[in-house]
Amino acid sequence: MTTLSTSEGIGVLKLECPQTHPVGRILKEAPHQAVQYDPGAAVGPRRFWPDEEDQPQFKTRCRFCDKPVGDATATLQNKLNNLIADGVEAYRTATLAYL
Ligand SMILES: [Zn+2]
Repeated sequence: MTTLSTSEGIGVLKLECPQTHPVGRILKEAPHQAVQYDPGAAVGPRRFWPDEEDQPQFKTRCRFCDKPVGDATATLQNKLNNLIADGVEAYRTATLAYL
C-alpha cells in the first residue's frame, strides 16, 4: 500500500477574468470523480462539467466586472488534464477572456 500518490488524478483549475477576479473553479477532487464546475458558494451549486451548454465554448460571468467571460472548453480541458498529468501542483490558474 502506498500513500505517496494521494494527489494523483486530482486538480483544481482556478478561473479568473482579465482583471484577476475569481469566476469559479473547474475541479476534480478525487481520481474517480467526474470533473465539476464550482461557480463559488455565493453564486450557485457545483455541476458536472463540461455540460452540453459548455460546448464548444465555456461561458460564465464575472460578477465584479459584470461582463461575460469565457474560453474554449477544449482549451480548459487540456489545462486541467495537463495539471492532473503533471501531478506536481494541485492548483493552477487560467485566465478567461471577455466575450
Ligand atoms: Zn472581473
